[in-house]
Amino acid sequence: RTVYLNGQYLPEEEAKVSIFDRGFVMGDAVYEVTCVLEGKLLEFEGHMARLQRSLKELQMHCDISRDEWLEIHRKLVELNGLENGGVYLQISRGNAGDRDFHFPKAGTPPTVVLYTQSKADLRNDPHAETGITVVSVPDLRWHRRDIKTVQLLWASIAKMTAEQQGKDDAWFVEDGFVTEGSSNNCYIVKNGEVITRPLSNDILHGITRGSLLKMMAERQLKLVERPFTIAEAQQADEAFYTSASSFVMPIVEVDGVKLGSGKPGPVAKRLREIYIEEALKAAI
Ligand code: PMP
Repeated sequence: RTVYLNGQYLPEEEAKVSIFDRGFVMGDAVYEVTCVLEGKLLEFEGHMARLQRSLKELQMHCDISRDEWLEIHRKLVELNGLENGGVYLQISRGNAGDRDFHFPKAGTPPTVVLYTQSKADLRNDPHAETGITVVSVPDLRWHRRDIKTVQLLWASIAKMTAEQQGKDDAWFVEDGFVTEGSSNNCYIVKNGEVITRPLSNDILHGITRGSLLKMMAERQLKLVERPFTIAEAQQADEAFYTSASSFVMPIVEVDGVKLGSGKPGPVAKRLREIYIEEALKAAI
């Protein structure tokens, strides 16, 4: 695989980062993932806009322009012959020289890494046919979940907890309400109405979420933005989650309770079709 590191395209074995890099020592780094379908980038503008916001919120500087990002993404897709999968982008605050909590001095260059990951065509994900099962775990993450940092340890532990219970994924719960999924935004459907938590620092502002809500509004589909509980989810007709790497994914079980028919529901299925069609049409 050819990867990108600080201006160079290199075989992955040759891409080396300092042990004093802030990303490694402090988890001081942000990231993005852009989905690739048929060799094209989905939601590129959205991911780049969120990247700029994450950098700004953490007072991190990286002067790569939108056009340069696009060129790097496209070049990696081409060099790796990527048809389906994703491009991962990571920016850390760079090499501090010595271990220090304080940020390195102004002008220290960030570390910029991009790489591709190939996957089977995500449109045919078998999970979309069967629906996935989730378990709830307390949301013990920090309170700036709106910033997409590489601090993914709690998400990783949550996914392991789900796996150990024979389930597919985890939902985070805080103060009695579902915040989001371990790596996705979540929704329930009741009497034809889609319910999802409003945006705040409590959740990541999903790019897929933003686009799906727009597509729903254009079709006059009913949406309510409010928090919901696990009990409410268990009594819902359907549930689903969204993310760049799963699009719209039906959920059929929450904490051992089957939802509705126990099969992916019609609303989730339709939204999945709408999303994939529209996102691919707008892909670049
Ligand atoms: N929430 C969390 C915690 C995530 O990690 C992700 C995936 N990056 C999402 C939501 C979904 O965001 P997006 O639609 O931009 O992939």
